Amino acid sequence: MSEKRKIVLLGSTGSIGRATLSVIERQSHKFEVVALSCKENVRLLKKQIEKFKPKAVCVFDSQKEKFLRNEGCKVLVGDQGLKEIVQMEANIVVNALPGSVGLMPTIEALKRGTILALANKESIVMAGRIVNECVRKYGAKLIPIDSEHSAIYQLLKKVRRREVKNLILTASGGPFLDLSKDELRKVKPEEALKHPIWKMGKKITVDSATLMNKGLEVIEARWLFGFGEDRIKVLIHPESFIHGLIELIDSSLIAYVSYPDMRIPISYALNEEERQAGTLPEIKLNTFMKMTFFPPDTEKFPALRLAYEALKEGDSAQIALNTSNEVACSAFLENRISFTDIPAVIEKVLERHPRKKVIRDVDSVWEIYSWAKAYTEELLKKGSKVWSTV
Ligand code: MG
Repeated sequence: MSEKRKIVLLGSTGSIGRATLSVIERQSHKFEVVALSCKENVRLLKKQIEKFKPKAVCVFDSQKEKFLRNEGCKVLVGDQGLKEIVQMEANIVVNALPGSVGLMPTIEALKRGTILALANKESIVMAGRIVNECVRKYGAKLIPIDSEHSAIYQLLKKVRRREVKNLILTASGGPFLDLSKDELRKVKPEEALKHPIWKMGKKITVDSATLMNKGLEVIEARWLFGFGEDRIKVLIHPESFIHGLIELIDSSLIAYVSYPDMRIPISYALNEEERQAGTLPEIKLNTFMKMTFFPPDTEKFPALRLAYEALKEGDSAQIALNTSNEVACSAFLENRISFTDIPAVIEKVLERHPRKKVIRDVDSVWEIYSWAKAYTEELLKKGSKVWSTV
């Protein structure tokens, strides 16, 4: 019998992490979990340890470490711990961490020349150029598990590159698609956290509501597939059955259709692009004949426009966009700012940030990150009069 494929899973208690473990469980003859990491949910992590028996786990706070001491595996803490588990002997690293904290493990995994199954889009948004360079230099392989990017990745394998005119990412549009600008101003965090299609973590759910998630995904697509921003389009498709399309030069389209279920892109990545039977029930088109499409309203959801602008402007703008979005999202969830303040704050940060078109080293990424974080916090302290355009 051939040896099992060893997997390190970062962010094991989140929605992608849990879906990954369910894929691994179905193919337990093929996969072995060597390490897991989570931020807070140590109760669930404990259950995962009992079931999957990893050699090591990493948590983010030393208080939580005590809770796991007698579980028979090594317990590591914080960034250093994360680095250690990414450096363990493994064939595949699944990065399902939310936010910029995912950058360091993305780079470390690529440096080890492993397969990186990447759900953490922020690491590409912040350092797409560096990520691509690492893939090349260390002979690593990056397979996206963001559903839209997995769709486009799979579609692009079917055609000649010169035949592709545009990439089209679909977006559900989030819970506030039909609200007016005035109504948007008043939405509460609880309402933003109710996504109509996907059950996900808080940050990405707010990002979906502002459409910043799609903005980050446009940037992600640029670095993953090497298409310029004028060739990456976004289409609102509330039913979320089509995840991505490619538009061809002969005016035809190829669409990727599946249930909105992350186990498909995860299984595709873990099995190194080999499809598995029985991942999900059969898809029956006659049960959901209705599919609608329309263009995004960037007047109502300016976050998407800001992402396109950042992409055009250069590497530093993409870091500033991602960082100020993280800070503004948390402030909204803490009721410190309104929903419509999120893009307004980001726009101010983008106006002022220290511009640098090309960034090739991680230290410079963190420098701009620190600047953008501090500046966003400073703006938040001053209050809405600073960013309000009305
Ligand atoms: Mg996505």
